Amino acid sequence: MDTLVRGGTVVSMDSAAGTLPRGDVLIRDGRIAAVAPGIDAAGAEVVDASGMLVLPGFVDTHRHTWQTAFRGLGARWTFGQYRVAVHGTLKPHYRPEDVYLGNLSGRLEALNSGVTTMLDWFHCARSPEHADAAIQALRDAPGHSIFCYGADGPGIAPEIRRVRALLPGDEMALGLRGPVISTMDETAADVALARELGLPVSMHVHGTGGWPHGDRPLAGMHERGLLDDRTTVVHGNGLSDDQLAMLADAGGSVSISPDVELKMGFEPPITGRALAAGIRPSLSVDDCPSAGGDLFGAMRTAIAVERAVTARDVLGFATIDGARACGRGDRTGSLTVGKDADLVLLDAEDPAVFPVGDPAGTLVSAGHPGLVDSVFVAGRAVKRHGRLLGVDLPSLRARLLASRDRIAAAAGIAVDGSWQPQEADVTR
Ligand SMILES: [Zn+2]
Repeated sequence: MDTLVRGGTVVSMDSAAGTLPRGDVLIRDGRIAAVAPGIDAAGAEVVDASGMLVLPGFVDTHRHTWQTAFRGLGARWTFGQYRVAVHGTLKPHYRPEDVYLGNLSGRLEALNSGVTTMLDWFHCARSPEHADAAIQALRDAPGHSIFCYGADGPGIAPEIRRVRALLPGDEMALGLRGPVISTMDETAADVALARELGLPVSMHVHGTGGWPHGDRPLAGMHERGLLDDRTTVVHGNGLSDDQLAMLADAGGSVSISPDVELKMGFEPPITGRALAAGIRPSLSVDDCPSAGGDLFGAMRTAIAVERAVTARDVLGFATIDGARACGRGDRTGSLTVGKDADLVLLDAEDPAVFPVGDPAGTLVSAGHPGLVDSVFVAGRAVKRHGRLLGVDLPSLRARLLASRDRIAAAAGIAVDGSWQPQEADVTR
């Protein structure tokens, strides 16, 4: 049966369709069949969107979802403290079931706040069973998920090939160690593997230089032809303008995590410099202990620190530009006929946002997850009237809490905020 989302303010993020002050979205077979005022769709199931904003679902291009159980602990952590706390102290105690619960809870949280497409940047790859648990959680949660496998250390190829055989190419990415952590020869081998397997790549580059393998990581990749339109650089702080131009020239993109970059002491988010270089950046949550898991917060910080962007730009980063960065620009990220019906309905009468004049300005400055009334993924309702559908949240909460408490006890740390990890000597 068709579904007609009727009478909302439709913020399509499609340059042709624009914003309809009062419009309808017709969904057929999981896709958007029409976007227009007053669609006549006899027999369709009607979703009343009056008093709502109707937007494409958000896209998060980089989130370490497995860490969800420790949210809030890193509100003031530096990058060095984060490394010691999460990777040095907590990660060694993660079992596959802990990864599963973190990923499932985090994916559902993202969905609850309107994130219909998410790249899970997984770097708790302690064993193949850990990766399998992460993938299973992404499959058990509704929503489009891309498993970005940040396999670590040398000799990763057999494990990457194993997982690639389990996942379609558009549901997997290769999380590179990249030229900041590994040598250029290792990076070249990793990129070759990704290309052979048809995978996009994502890699962290941040800091202020002084990297162990040289100050011009993207220039080195550019020289060897390792950058292309399936390359996403996470953060990018510390990259010179000419290296951003090389990335732009190759068609690559940048994923910006404004909250984490600011509080962890990276250089300021490079949103404006990326735009100047010709790159439309996307937005991401990054690590869950340090930042909230919704893109409203990321949008608010992004516009607060960069005068060169408009609210409309920032809303684009969180939707269509994120979709393009994930290689899904033709399938999601805007309310365009033929795309998957991934859409969110936001309460425009909530006291935090009423009255809405400019939807982009309102959402970027005052939006919050509590506005998300409904979420549709490929036409299927996964959240209605403020509640996720088909999810036993009380049971999941109990399991996540038990997982967190077990890990914390094994690691010998407190979860009440009194734990102050000692900053390690890190070079990036
Ligand atoms: Zn990250």
